[in-house]
Amino acid sequence: MARVMIVGAGGVSNVVASKCAAQQEFSDILLASRTIEKCNQIAESIGSPKITTAQLDADNVSETVALIKGFRPDILINVALPYQDLHLMEACLETGVDYLDTANYEPPEEAKFEYSWQWNYHDRFKEAGITAILGCGFDPGVTGVFTAYAQKHYFDEIHYLDIVDCNAGNHGQAFATNFNPEINIREITQKGRYYENGQWIEVEPLSINRAISYPEIGDRQSYLLYHEELESLVKHIPTLKRARFWMTFSQSYINHLQVLGNLGLTRIDPIDYEGTPIIPLQFLKRLLPEPSSLAENYTGQTSIGCHIRGIKENQEHSYYVYNNCDHAESYKEVGSQAISYTTGVPAVIGALMVVKGLWKKAGVFNVEQFDPDPFMDLLGDLGLPWHEVINAANPFPD
Ligand code: NDP
Repeated sequence: MARVMIVGAGGVSNVVASKCAAQQEFSDILLASRTIEKCNQIAESIGSPKITTAQLDADNVSETVALIKGFRPDILINVALPYQDLHLMEACLETGVDYLDTANYEPPEEAKFEYSWQWNYHDRFKEAGITAILGCGFDPGVTGVFTAYAQKHYFDEIHYLDIVDCNAGNHGQAFATNFNPEINIREITQKGRYYENGQWIEVEPLSINRAISYPEIGDRQSYLLYHEELESLVKHIPTLKRARFWMTFSQSYINHLQVLGNLGLTRIDPIDYEGTPIIPLQFLKRLLPEPSSLAENYTGQTSIGCHIRGIKENQEHSYYVYNNCDHAESYKEVGSQAISYTTGVPAVIGALMVVKGLWKKAGVFNVEQFDPDPFMDLLGDLGLPWHEVINAANPFPD
């Protein structure tokens, strides 16, 4: 039986707390976040005696250390924001507690995410004999596990990887983001980037797009984005010749984003408003719906998967592995929409992998560096059944 501390009390945290409470491997759960009322709300809605709550500013390392020392968790699951990653890793190092997150660090003042900051902690985690698992949501997360599973079972060499992420849901709002608006808009307004023949190729934001067909959904316009798992997958699967990431957006979403950008509302540098410095994107976040509030009326499905091509015994093969998740079903089960659900469930499975000793290595790791089989075995049981198409038609002829 293990003790787990969950940091953050947003949409993803609600799923992580619900699913942890349902696992017999977890005896005690501490839910800690900046706004304790949100922790209490989640705890009340789950109604499990395993859960206690606490107020925490996760950017304050000594405050986190004190809370960890009082609760003595076996693992800390960080589902606050990427800005907190390094502070929480420091607190884990000081207390000897394993660490897991779902999004890689980015500095608040620059919209630039990369693994280097967290990979730099590898030697310290190794010396301390504790595990850090980075990016264990769906994408990043399951997409890395899917790729490792393909590598283990179907390919001698993987050459082409296209990660495809479709949200075909409808929340009825004119404009809203499915996870934290600030993090989401920073990601989408960055330049696109993909890997080809040993080089990173940069393109203007959302400038490359094509229709991609998704199971049970059909064709959806999908845009090439830079996404964090590309960086780690290219490093850990060195036979890759090309790796790309695609995400669907509706025309209305793109139009809204363009107008907001043209007005300067997606800027992350401070501006002076009547003597008070404000960051336009943070102001915009205040105006937009909380992602968790979208859940109640959300209909439709998400579909996220990996199209992979490569060789096995000198023969060319293709492989497609994916999960479809229904917004309304997720809401019925845990009161969250499918984006939070598909992020929270893998985080809980990753934590189970660590506390069961299956993914317990000293150092800082990405999910594709572990055996994918026990993780894949649990995905369906915990609510994310996956499907595979062997020698699938290639949707990316070029
Ligand atoms: P939310 O904005 O709904 O929740 C974030 C939570 O973190 C809030 O409760 C917030 O508190 C809390 N928080 C922020 N700063 C601090 C701090 N300094 N100390 C303590 N708590 C803090 O985000 P989501 O639940 O949608 O997303 C959570 C994480 O999951 C994000 O990092 C996101 O990038 C990641 N994600 C990963 C995906 C994947 O597939 N890998 C997909 C989707 C999301 P308050 O309420 O007071 O603001």
